[in-house]
Amino acid sequence: MKKLFAMCVGMLLATTLVASQAKYVFYFIGDGMGPVEVQGTEYYLAQVEGKLGIKPLCFASFPYAGYVTTYSASSDVTDSSAAGTALACGVKINNGAIGILPGTGEFTSSVSDWAKATGKSVGITTSVGVNHATPAAFFGHRPSRNDYYELGVQLTESGYDFFAGGDFINPTKDDEPSLYELSEKAGYVIARGYDDYKAKKNCGKPIILFQKEGIGTDIPYAVDAREGDLTLDQIVTAAIEQLSKNKKGFFLMCEGGQIDHGGHANDAIACLGDVVSMDDAIKVAYEFYKKHPKETLIIVTADHETGGLALTGGGYSINTGVLQYQKVSKHGFSQVLNQLRHEKKDKVEWADAKAALMENFGFWKEVQLTHDDEMKLYDEWYHSFASNEKVKMAESLYFKDEPLSDLAVRIINRIAKVSWPVGSHSGSYVPVFAVGAGAEQFTGRIDNTDIPKKIAKIAGYKVKK
Ligand SMILES: [Zn+2]
Repeated sequence: MKKLFAMCVGMLLATTLVASQAKYVFYFIGDGMGPVEVQGTEYYLAQVEGKLGIKPLCFASFPYAGYVTTYSASSDVTDSSAAGTALACGVKINNGAIGILPGTGEFTSSVSDWAKATGKSVGITTSVGVNHATPAAFFGHRPSRNDYYELGVQLTESGYDFFAGGDFINPTKDDEPSLYELSEKAGYVIARGYDDYKAKKNCGKPIILFQKEGIGTDIPYAVDAREGDLTLDQIVTAAIEQLSKNKKGFFLMCEGGQIDHGGHANDAIACLGDVVSMDDAIKVAYEFYKKHPKETLIIVTADHETGGLALTGGGYSINTGVLQYQKVSKHGFSQVLNQLRHEKKDKVEWADAKAALMENFGFWKEVQLTHDDEMKLYDEWYHSFASNEKVKMAESLYFKDEPLSDLAVRIINRIAKVSWPVGSHSGSYVPVFAVGAGAEQFTGRIDNTDIPKKIAKIAGYKVKK
C-alpha cells in the first residue's frame, strides 16, 4: 500500500514536472519594436476610437514584462544580425555577422537547434525575406548578413520543419542552383500564398510558405496590404497546423520584420500598423495557449528600437489618431506618384498631386494643413514634377522615395506629434512580454542573450555548444 502511494506521488510529481515544461514555444520578435512603438500603437488605437489613453494590445497585456538590453559585442547600438544572434543563440557577436563568434570565428548554435535536437518541430517565420538577418540568425552562420544566397543554402540544410516569409532574398547566384531548386532537393514543398498553402498543407512534406510571386521579398506593410495578401496571422495559423503534427511539441519563431522598415523610413503608420499585424498573429498563438495553458510559453520581444520614436511634438498632447487618414506607406505613396507620372506622361499638374495627397493623407479634408505646409508641398511638387530639375530621391535604409511622399509623411508625423530623431537604430531598451509556462522568468532587466537560455531551460531543451 505504502509502495503504491509512493508510486502515485512519484507519478504525480513527474506529471507536474512535465506539465510545467513548455512543450510549445512561441517566440515573437518585433524588429525595431521599442517600448514607444508598442505604446504609440496603443495610443493610436485609442485615439481612432475617440478615446484618451491606451487601447491595450493583446501581447502588451501579458502578465509578465521586463526590459531587455540590446548592445552587441561591437557596439552599444546593435543591428539585426548581432541582435538576432543574441536572441537566437544567447551570445553577443559583432554587428553585421550572423551566428559567428568574434575572434575565433566559431559557429554558434541556436535555441531552435536545441529544440530540434530535443525532438521538437521547428518553424522559422517572418514578414520579410526568410533569409534576412533575424530569421537567418536561427539557422545561419556567415561573416556578413548580406550573404543572402549562402544563408538561403543554410536554410535548406537546416532540417527545420516549416518556414514562412515574403520570399527568398537573392535566390540565385552565378551558375549555382537556385534556392528554390535546393529547397525542393532538400525535401521542402514551396507554397505561394495562403490558398496554395491550404491546397498543399497535407502533402506530408515540410513546407516553405511564401507570398504570391511578383510582390517582392517583404510582405506589404499592413497599411499597404491588399485583399488576398499573405498575413502574419495566417503564417502563425499555418505554422501551428504543420508543427503540431509532432506530438513532442514545437518551437516557433515569428518575426514582425517590417516594423523596423517603418522606423527606418520614419513612417509612423507603416511602423505602428505592423505592430498591430504582429499583435493579430500573437492572438492566434494566444488562442492556442488558452487550449494548452500549462504547456505553452509565449515570449514577445524585439531585437532593438529603430528611429528613436518619441511621442511628442512639443506641448502637452499627442494626436496619433490623425495617422488613420494616411492610407499608404511613404513607399506606397511613392508608387502612387510614379503611377501618376506614367499615366500623365510626365505632366503631373499640381491639381493631380493635390488630389493624390487628399486621397492618401486626408490633407485639406480630415487633416487641416497650415499655409506653410501647403506652400512646402507646392514647392516640392514644382521641383519634382514641373521644373526640369533631376529629382533627388529621399533615401532611407530600405527604400528610395519621392521627395513629395517623404514631405507628406513628415507633415502628418508633425501633426500627429510623433518625432523621429534618426533613420537608424537606437540603443534603447526593448520590452519583453510573456505568458504561460515559465513566463514569470521574464521580468526585471534582462540581457538579450539570457532569453534563449531561459527558453531552453523552461522547455527542457538539450543545449548544444
Ligand atoms: Zn533595422
